[in-house]
Amino acid sequence: MEDTNLPTSGTIGARRALVRLTDVNKHFGELHVLNNINLTVSQGEVVVVIGPSGSGKSTLCRAINRLETIDSGTIEVDGRVLPEEGKALAQLRADVGMVFQSFNLFAHKTVLQNVTLGPIKVKKMRSAEAKELAMTLLRRVGVDSQANKMPAQLSGGQQQRVAIARALAMHPKVMLFDEPTSALDPEMITEVLDVMVGLATEGMTMIVVTHEMGFARKAADRVVFMSDGQVLEEAEPEQFFTAPSSDRARDFLSKIL
Ligand code: ADP
Ligand code: MG
Repeated sequence: MEDTNLPTSGTIGARRALVRLTDVNKHFGELHVLNNINLTVSQGEVVVVIGPSGSGKSTLCRAINRLETIDSGTIEVDGRVLPEEGKALAQLRADVGMVFQSFNLFAHKTVLQNVTLGPIKVKKMRSAEAKELAMTLLRRVGVDSQANKMPAQLSGGQQQRVAIARALAMHPKVMLFDEPTSALDPEMITEVLDVMVGLATEGMTMIVVTHEMGFARKAADRVVFMSDGQVLEEAEPEQFFTAPSSDRARDFLSKIL
């Protein structure tokens, strides 16, 4: 081939690779928690990650956001390798919004302050502008009437929607969700999933660890099945749920469906 100037990352056909993991390994002592992970998520793609407890799903999310270091391999966000630390890391991290199982809102700040803090501190946005942005996002997730309350005064579903608004306020290129509904009472799961489906429909690039098959079927372009630190299977949702190709995926699905 003549063209030696092809980028090694950044584009796949017309779609830009927003997150790319190449041969990523991580150990916790003896435990090989991420075992040679290769995974690419393109712009606008929604990838659902499922797998048994302890298979490395949270570690994967945390590594993409550099909340965990890795032992070898590379993680690129929008074509740039994640730096070890420093200002460049803070900026790259702002490109990756993260929503955790346990909401993780700042308990001593109001709902509004939770959303304005990042834009003001990291993006140096003026306070009035940050407030306007925050109110727009809170309205979008349906909790604008709670703006001046403290997180503890809100239901779990409302808190999780605030967490989504807080992540969106940084204008992330990709959103990571780590079991965002598994700490919620059943009646609150839908209100959070609806917001996520809305984001997916609007074209947000998303990596979502969840066992909510309804969400996967409705919103996911691809399901990634992890087991023992490895990506065992990648398939479209319908294919994965109806005809998984590995025994371990079949076994897992028989337990959760
Ligand atoms: P999942 O999210 O799929 O349930 P995790 O990524 O949380 O899996 O954990 C994968 C494995 O790594 C588990 O066995 C867990 O106990 C272990 N683990 C996670 N974090 C740490 C840590 N900080 N130190 C040691 N072991 C850890
Ligand atoms: Mg987990």
